[in-house]
Amino acid sequence: MTDINSSNIQMLCRLIEETAAPVIVTHMKPDGDAMGSSVALYHFLRAMGHEARIVLNDRFPSYLNFLADAGMKDVIAVYGEKPEDAISAIDGSDLIFCLDFNAFHRTDTLEDALKRSRARKVLVDHHLNPDREQFDLSFSETETSSASELLYHILMAMPSVAGDACRIPAACAEALMTGMTTDTNNFANSVYPSTLKMASSLLAAGVDRDRILNLLYNQYSENRLRVLGHMMKDLLTLTEDGVAYIVLDKKTQEAYGVSEGDTEGFVNMPLSIGKVRMSLLLKEDGDRVRVSIRSKKGTSANRCARLHFNGGGHENAAGGRLDMPQDIACIAEAAAYIERHTHDFFTKDEKNA
Ligand code: 5GP
Ligand code: MN
Repeated sequence: MTDINSSNIQMLCRLIEETAAPVIVTHMKPDGDAMGSSVALYHFLRAMGHEARIVLNDRFPSYLNFLADAGMKDVIAVYGEKPEDAISAIDGSDLIFCLDFNAFHRTDTLEDALKRSRARKVLVDHHLNPDREQFDLSFSETETSSASELLYHILMAMPSVAGDACRIPAACAEALMTGMTTDTNNFANSVYPSTLKMASSLLAAGVDRDRILNLLYNQYSENRLRVLGHMMKDLLTLTEDGVAYIVLDKKTQEAYGVSEGDTEGFVNMPLSIGKVRMSLLLKEDGDRVRVSIRSKKGTSANRCARLHFNGGGHENAAGGRLDMPQDIACIAEAAAYIERHTHDFFTKDEKNA
Protein backbone atom coordinates (compact mmCIF):
# COMPACT_ATOMS: atom_id res chain seq x y z
CA MET A 1 0.00 0.00 0.00
CA THR A 2 2.38 2.63 -1.31
CA ASP A 3 0.21 5.63 -0.44
CA ILE A 4 0.39 4.69 3.24
CA ASN A 5 3.89 6.08 3.82
CA SER A 6 5.26 8.26 6.57
CA SER A 7 5.08 11.53 4.64
CA ASN A 8 1.42 11.00 3.69
CA ILE A 9 0.53 9.99 7.25
CA GLN A 10 2.35 13.06 8.59
CA MET A 11 0.45 15.27 6.17
CA LEU A 12 -2.83 13.64 7.17
CA CYS A 13 -2.08 14.26 10.86
CA ARG A 14 -1.27 17.90 10.11
CA LEU A 15 -4.48 18.41 8.10
CA ILE A 16 -6.54 16.90 10.93
CA GLU A 17 -4.75 18.99 13.54
CA GLU A 18 -5.46 22.19 11.61
CA THR A 19 -9.09 21.57 10.66
CA ALA A 20 -11.96 23.44 12.27
CA ALA A 21 -14.77 21.98 10.18
CA PRO A 22 -14.10 18.53 8.74
CA VAL A 23 -16.60 16.95 6.37
CA ILE A 24 -16.87 13.37 5.12
CA VAL A 25 -18.42 12.73 1.71
CA THR A 26 -19.15 9.44 0.01
CA HIS A 27 -20.76 8.25 -3.23
CA MET A 28 -24.44 8.45 -4.18
CA LYS A 29 -26.67 5.54 -3.15
CA PRO A 30 -24.32 4.80 -0.26
CA ASP A 31 -23.72 1.12 0.43
CA GLY A 32 -22.24 -0.68 3.43
CA ASP A 33 -18.67 0.26 2.55
CA ALA A 34 -19.52 3.91 1.89
CA MET A 35 -21.35 4.20 5.21
CA GLY A 36 -18.98 1.92 7.14
CA SER A 37 -15.91 3.93 6.16
CA SER A 38 -17.68 7.28 6.68
CA VAL A 39 -19.05 6.43 10.12
CA ALA A 40 -15.70 4.89 11.12
CA LEU A 41 -13.82 8.05 10.20
CA TYR A 42 -16.41 10.16 12.01
CA HIS A 43 -15.78 8.23 15.25
CA PHE A 44 -12.02 8.35 14.80
CA LEU A 45 -12.04 12.12 14.29
CA ARG A 46 -14.37 12.50 17.25
CA ALA A 47 -11.92 10.65 19.47
CA MET A 48 -9.31 13.18 18.29
CA GLY A 49 -11.58 16.05 19.37
CA HIS A 50 -13.13 16.92 15.99
CA GLU A 51 -16.85 16.91 15.29
CA ALA A 52 -17.19 16.06 11.58
CA ARG A 53 -20.31 16.15 9.42
CA ILE A 54 -21.12 13.33 7.00
CA VAL A 55 -22.68 14.66 3.79
CA LEU A 56 -24.64 12.31 1.52
CA ASN A 57 -26.41 12.74 -1.80
CA ASP A 58 -29.21 10.46 -0.65
CA ARG A 59 -30.13 8.55 2.48
CA PHE A 60 -28.48 5.20 3.17
CA PRO A 61 -30.65 2.04 3.13
CA SER A 62 -32.38 1.16 6.39
CA TYR A 63 -30.45 -2.11 6.87
CA LEU A 64 -27.49 0.14 7.77
CA ASN A 65 -29.42 2.13 10.39
CA PHE A 66 -27.50 0.45 13.18
CA LEU A 67 -24.29 2.16 12.04
CA ALA A 68 -25.63 5.63 12.70
CA ASP A 69 -27.12 5.67 16.19
CA ALA A 70 -29.50 8.33 17.49
CA GLY A 71 -26.57 10.48 18.63
CA MET A 72 -25.56 10.92 14.99
CA LYS A 73 -28.87 12.39 13.82
CA ASP A 74 -27.44 15.89 13.44
CA VAL A 75 -24.14 14.64 12.08
CA ILE A 76 -25.49 13.37 8.77
CA ALA A 77 -26.66 15.86 6.13
CA VAL A 78 -28.61 14.37 3.23
CA TYR A 79 -28.96 16.49 0.10
CA GLY A 80 -32.18 14.74 -0.92
CA GLU A 81 -33.78 15.75 2.41
CA LYS A 82 -32.20 19.14 3.24
CA PRO A 83 -30.22 20.42 0.26
CA GLU A 84 -29.18 23.72 1.94
CA ASP A 85 -27.81 21.88 4.99
CA ALA A 86 -25.74 19.52 2.81
CA ILE A 87 -24.33 22.25 0.59
CA SER A 88 -23.60 24.66 3.44
CA ALA A 89 -21.72 21.92 5.29
CA ILE A 90 -19.47 21.47 2.24
CA ASP A 91 -19.15 25.22 1.62
CA GLY A 92 -18.20 25.79 5.27
CA SER A 93 -15.65 23.00 5.46
CA ASP A 94 -11.87 23.39 5.41
CA LEU A 95 -11.08 19.67 5.13
CA ILE A 96 -13.12 17.22 3.06
CA PHE A 97 -12.58 13.48 3.15
CA CYS A 98 -13.80 11.69 0.02
CA LEU A 99 -14.43 8.05 0.77
CA ASP A 100 -15.16 5.11 -1.55
CA PHE A 101 -15.34 7.02 -4.85
CA ASN A 102 -12.78 8.08 -7.43
CA ALA A 103 -14.25 11.23 -9.02
CA PHE A 104 -16.59 14.00 -7.83
CA HIS A 105 -19.39 13.11 -10.25
CA ARG A 106 -19.98 9.92 -8.24
CA THR A 107 -21.55 12.14 -5.55
CA ASP A 108 -24.21 13.34 -8.01
CA THR A 109 -25.76 16.54 -6.55
CA LEU A 110 -22.68 17.32 -4.42
CA GLU A 111 -20.35 17.50 -7.42
CA ASP A 112 -20.54 21.27 -8.01
CA ALA A 113 -20.05 22.12 -4.34
CA LEU A 114 -17.01 19.83 -4.20
CA LYS A 115 -15.56 21.35 -7.36
CA ARG A 116 -15.82 24.93 -6.13
CA SER A 117 -14.76 24.14 -2.55
CA ARG A 118 -11.39 25.56 -1.48
CA ALA A 119 -11.12 23.01 1.33
CA ARG A 120 -8.21 20.59 1.43
CA LYS A 121 -9.37 17.26 0.06
CA VAL A 122 -8.28 13.78 1.08
CA LEU A 123 -9.14 10.71 -0.98
CA VAL A 124 -9.53 7.25 0.56
CA ASP A 125 -10.64 4.89 -2.19
CA HIS A 126 -10.20 1.49 -3.80
CA HIS A 127 -11.58 2.08 -7.32
CA LEU A 128 -9.55 2.04 -10.54
CA ASN A 129 -8.32 5.28 -12.13
CA PRO A 130 -8.82 7.86 -9.35
CA ASP A 131 -8.80 11.50 -10.39
CA ARG A 132 -5.78 12.30 -8.17
CA GLU A 133 -5.54 15.90 -9.39
CA GLN A 134 -8.73 16.76 -7.55
CA PHE A 135 -7.19 15.86 -4.19
CA ASP A 136 -4.47 17.33 -1.97
CA LEU A 137 -3.75 13.93 -0.49
CA SER A 138 -4.66 10.58 -2.04
CA PHE A 139 -4.84 7.18 -0.47
CA SER A 140 -5.82 5.03 -3.43
CA GLU A 141 -5.31 1.28 -3.40
CA THR A 142 -7.15 -1.03 -5.78
CA GLU A 143 -5.67 -4.23 -4.34
CA THR A 144 -7.77 -3.99 -1.23
CA SER A 145 -11.22 -5.25 -0.37
CA SER A 146 -12.89 -1.96 0.46
CA ALA A 147 -12.52 1.67 1.41
CA SER A 148 -13.14 0.49 4.98
CA GLU A 149 -10.13 -1.83 4.84
CA LEU A 150 -7.96 0.90 3.36
CA LEU A 151 -9.05 3.31 6.07
CA TYR A 152 -8.23 0.67 8.69
CA HIS A 153 -4.63 0.43 7.39
CA ILE A 154 -4.35 4.23 7.36
CA LEU A 155 -5.59 4.47 10.94
CA MET A 156 -3.22 1.72 12.04
CA ALA A 157 -0.36 3.86 10.67
CA MET A 158 -1.46 6.93 12.65
CA PRO A 159 0.72 7.72 15.69
CA SER A 160 -2.22 7.50 18.11
CA VAL A 161 -2.92 3.90 17.07
CA ALA A 162 0.66 2.84 16.26
CA GLY A 163 -0.27 -0.59 14.93
CA ASP A 164 -2.39 -1.58 17.91
CA ALA A 165 -6.01 -2.17 16.78
CA CYS A 166 -7.13 -2.04 20.43
CA ARG A 167 -6.51 1.72 20.27
CA ILE A 168 -9.09 2.20 17.52
CA PRO A 169 -12.33 3.46 19.14
CA ALA A 170 -14.88 0.61 19.40
CA ALA A 171 -17.57 2.30 17.27
CA CYS A 172 -14.96 3.03 14.60
CA ALA A 173 -13.74 -0.58 14.60
CA GLU A 174 -17.29 -1.91 14.31
CA ALA A 175 -18.02 0.34 11.32
CA LEU A 176 -14.78 -0.70 9.61
CA MET A 177 -15.65 -4.38 10.04
CA THR A 178 -19.15 -3.71 8.67
CA GLY A 179 -17.91 -1.95 5.53
CA MET A 180 -15.34 -4.63 4.75
CA THR A 181 -17.91 -7.38 5.33
CA THR A 182 -20.47 -5.93 2.92
CA ASP A 183 -17.95 -5.05 0.17
CA THR A 184 -16.48 -8.57 0.23
CA ASN A 185 -19.98 -10.02 0.28
CA ASN A 186 -19.06 -11.58 3.61
CA PHE A 187 -15.62 -12.80 2.46
CA ALA A 188 -16.86 -14.19 -0.87
CA ASN A 189 -14.87 -11.81 -3.12
CA SER A 190 -12.01 -9.27 -3.15
CA VAL A 191 -10.37 -10.84 -0.11
CA TYR A 192 -6.63 -10.19 0.18
CA PRO A 193 -4.14 -11.32 2.85
CA SER A 194 -4.41 -7.79 4.25
CA THR A 195 -8.20 -8.21 4.52
CA LEU A 196 -7.89 -11.28 6.73
CA LYS A 197 -5.24 -9.54 8.83
CA MET A 198 -7.64 -6.65 9.34
CA ALA A 199 -10.48 -8.98 10.31
CA SER A 200 -8.23 -10.89 12.67
CA SER A 201 -6.90 -7.76 14.41
CA LEU A 202 -10.36 -6.24 14.78
CA LEU A 203 -11.79 -9.49 16.16
CA ALA A 204 -8.92 -9.71 18.63
CA ALA A 205 -9.59 -6.07 19.57
CA GLY A 206 -13.12 -7.01 20.60
CA VAL A 207 -15.36 -6.31 17.60
CA ASP A 208 -18.50 -8.44 17.89
CA ARG A 209 -18.76 -9.87 14.35
CA ASP A 210 -21.71 -12.12 15.17
CA ARG A 211 -23.71 -9.05 16.16
CA ILE A 212 -22.76 -7.29 12.93
CA LEU A 213 -23.69 -10.33 10.79
CA ASN A 214 -27.03 -10.61 12.55
CA LEU A 215 -27.76 -6.93 11.98
CA LEU A 216 -26.65 -7.03 8.34
CA TYR A 217 -28.15 -10.27 7.13
CA ASN A 218 -30.97 -11.33 9.46
CA GLN A 219 -33.14 -8.24 9.73
CA TYR A 220 -34.67 -7.92 6.28
CA SER A 221 -38.35 -7.62 5.47
CA GLU A 222 -40.44 -10.60 4.39
CA ASN A 223 -40.93 -8.87 1.04
CA ARG A 224 -37.26 -9.11 0.26
CA LEU A 225 -37.38 -12.90 0.17
CA ARG A 226 -40.69 -12.91 -1.71
CA VAL A 227 -39.39 -10.62 -4.45
CA LEU A 228 -36.18 -12.67 -4.64
CA GLY A 229 -38.29 -15.76 -5.35
CA HIS A 230 -40.19 -13.93 -8.08
CA MET A 231 -37.02 -12.53 -9.63
CA MET A 232 -35.16 -15.83 -9.81
CA LYS A 233 -38.16 -17.85 -10.96
CA ASP A 234 -39.92 -15.49 -13.37
CA LEU A 235 -37.60 -12.62 -14.29
CA LEU A 236 -34.16 -14.21 -14.70
CA THR A 237 -33.08 -14.58 -18.33
CA LEU A 238 -29.97 -16.37 -19.61
CA THR A 239 -28.44 -15.58 -23.01
CA GLU A 240 -26.29 -17.74 -25.28
CA ASP A 241 -23.27 -15.59 -24.39
CA GLY A 242 -23.41 -16.68 -20.76
CA VAL A 243 -25.11 -13.53 -19.55
CA ALA A 244 -27.76 -13.65 -16.83
CA TYR A 245 -29.96 -10.61 -16.43
CA ILE A 246 -32.98 -9.40 -14.51
CA VAL A 247 -34.97 -6.22 -15.14
CA LEU A 248 -36.91 -5.04 -12.10
CA ASP A 249 -39.39 -2.44 -13.25
CA LYS A 250 -41.10 0.14 -11.04
CA LYS A 251 -44.41 -1.73 -11.08
CA THR A 252 -42.86 -4.90 -9.66
CA GLN A 253 -40.90 -2.91 -7.06
CA GLU A 254 -44.15 -1.32 -5.92
CA ALA A 255 -46.09 -4.60 -5.94
CA TYR A 256 -43.54 -6.11 -3.54
CA GLY A 257 -42.89 -2.92 -1.56
CA VAL A 258 -39.20 -3.06 -2.50
CA SER A 259 -37.22 -0.29 -0.83
CA GLU A 260 -33.60 0.82 -1.21
CA GLY A 261 -31.24 -1.95 -0.15
CA ASP A 262 -33.83 -4.72 -0.39
CA THR A 263 -32.19 -6.19 -3.49
CA GLU A 264 -28.64 -5.89 -2.12
CA GLY A 265 -26.62 -8.94 -3.15
CA PHE A 266 -29.17 -10.40 -5.58
CA VAL A 267 -27.02 -9.61 -8.63
CA ASN A 268 -24.37 -12.07 -7.40
CA MET A 269 -26.70 -15.06 -7.26
CA PRO A 270 -26.93 -15.96 -10.98
CA LEU A 271 -23.12 -16.29 -11.03
CA SER A 272 -23.65 -19.58 -9.17
CA ILE A 273 -24.86 -21.05 -12.49
CA GLY A 274 -21.91 -22.78 -14.20
CA LYS A 275 -22.38 -21.34 -17.67
CA VAL A 276 -22.97 -17.76 -16.50
CA ARG A 277 -20.00 -15.43 -17.03
CA MET A 278 -21.66 -12.14 -16.17
CA SER A 279 -24.79 -11.12 -14.27
CA LEU A 280 -26.74 -7.87 -14.61
CA LEU A 281 -29.52 -6.46 -12.46
CA LEU A 282 -31.40 -3.45 -13.80
CA LYS A 283 -33.70 -1.43 -11.54
CA GLU A 284 -36.03 1.25 -12.84
CA ASP A 285 -35.52 4.43 -10.79
CA GLY A 286 -37.45 7.48 -12.05
CA ASP A 287 -36.25 8.39 -15.53
CA ARG A 288 -33.13 6.27 -15.25
CA VAL A 289 -32.38 2.60 -14.86
CA ARG A 290 -29.68 1.69 -12.36
CA VAL A 291 -27.42 -1.11 -13.51
CA SER A 292 -25.42 -3.52 -11.35
CA ILE A 293 -22.95 -5.87 -13.01
CA ARG A 294 -20.97 -8.77 -11.56
CA SER A 295 -18.64 -11.08 -13.47
CA LYS A 296 -16.52 -14.16 -12.98
CA LYS A 297 -12.74 -13.96 -13.30
CA GLY A 298 -11.74 -13.46 -16.95
CA THR A 299 -14.67 -11.20 -17.77
CA SER A 300 -14.47 -7.49 -16.98
CA ALA A 301 -17.65 -6.08 -15.45
CA ASN A 302 -15.85 -2.73 -15.24
CA ARG A 303 -15.18 -2.69 -18.99
CA CYS A 304 -18.73 -3.68 -19.83
CA ALA A 305 -20.08 -0.95 -17.50
CA ARG A 306 -17.82 1.66 -19.09
CA LEU A 307 -18.49 0.69 -22.71
CA HIS A 308 -22.21 0.00 -22.58
CA PHE A 309 -23.80 1.26 -19.36
CA ASN A 310 -22.37 4.76 -18.69
CA GLY A 311 -20.56 3.56 -15.59
CA GLY A 312 -17.53 1.82 -14.17
CA GLY A 313 -16.36 0.23 -10.94
CA HIS A 314 -14.12 -2.72 -10.15
CA GLU A 315 -12.97 -5.53 -12.42
CA ASN A 316 -15.67 -8.00 -11.29
CA ALA A 317 -18.19 -5.66 -9.64
CA ALA A 318 -19.34 -2.58 -11.48
CA GLY A 319 -22.38 -0.46 -12.13
CA GLY A 320 -23.83 2.23 -14.29
CA ARG A 321 -27.09 3.57 -15.66
CA LEU A 322 -29.32 3.83 -18.68
CA ASP A 323 -31.17 7.10 -19.18
CA MET A 324 -34.68 7.24 -20.58
CA PRO A 325 -35.35 8.23 -23.30
CA GLN A 326 -31.71 8.78 -24.38
CA ASP A 327 -30.51 5.16 -24.10
CA ILE A 328 -33.84 3.33 -24.14
CA ALA A 329 -37.30 4.76 -24.76
CA CYS A 330 -38.88 2.92 -21.83
CA ILE A 331 -38.18 0.10 -19.39
CA ALA A 332 -39.77 -2.47 -21.74
CA GLU A 333 -36.80 -1.92 -24.07
CA ALA A 334 -34.20 -2.75 -21.42
CA ALA A 335 -34.06 -6.49 -22.19
CA ALA A 336 -33.36 -5.95 -25.90
CA TYR A 337 -30.69 -3.34 -25.02
CA ILE A 338 -28.93 -5.74 -22.65
CA GLU A 339 -29.03 -8.64 -25.11
CA ARG A 340 -27.64 -6.54 -27.97
CA HIS A 341 -24.96 -4.79 -25.95
CA THR A 342 -23.71 -7.78 -23.99
CA HIS A 343 -23.57 -9.78 -27.25
CA ASP A 344 -21.41 -7.01 -28.76
CA PHE A 345 -19.32 -7.01 -25.60
CA PHE A 346 -18.52 -10.72 -25.81
CA THR A 347 -18.17 -10.96 -29.59
CA LYS A 348 -16.40 -7.65 -30.36
CA ASP A 349 -15.13 -5.70 -27.33
CA GLU A 350 -13.74 -8.58 -25.27
CA LYS A 351 -11.78 -9.88 -28.27
CA ASN A 352 -10.31 -6.44 -28.82
CA ALA A 353 -9.45 -5.99 -25.15
P1 5GP B 1 -23.38 -1.79 -7.16
O1 5GP B 1 -23.73 -2.78 -8.21
O2 5GP B 1 -23.17 -2.45 -5.83
O3 5GP B 1 -24.29 -0.61 -7.13
O4 5GP B 1 -21.96 -1.19 -7.58
C1 5GP B 1 -20.86 -2.03 -7.76
C2 5GP B 1 -19.63 -1.21 -7.99
O5 5GP B 1 -19.76 -0.42 -9.17
C3 5GP B 1 -19.33 -0.23 -6.87
O6 5GP B 1 -17.96 -0.34 -6.58
C4 5GP B 1 -19.65 1.11 -7.41
O7 5GP B 1 -18.76 2.06 -6.93
C5 5GP B 1 -19.53 0.95 -8.91
N1 5GP B 1 -20.58 1.72 -9.58
C6 5GP B 1 -21.91 1.57 -9.43
N2 5GP B 1 -22.60 2.44 -10.18
C7 5GP B 1 -21.66 3.18 -10.84
C8 5GP B 1 -21.73 4.27 -11.76
O8 5GP B 1 -22.80 4.74 -12.16
N3 5GP B 1 -20.55 4.78 -12.21
C9 5GP B 1 -19.35 4.28 -11.81
N4 5GP B 1 -18.23 4.84 -12.29
N5 5GP B 1 -19.25 3.26 -10.94
C10 5GP B 1 -20.38 2.71 -10.45
MN1 MN C 1 -16.38 0.17 -1.74
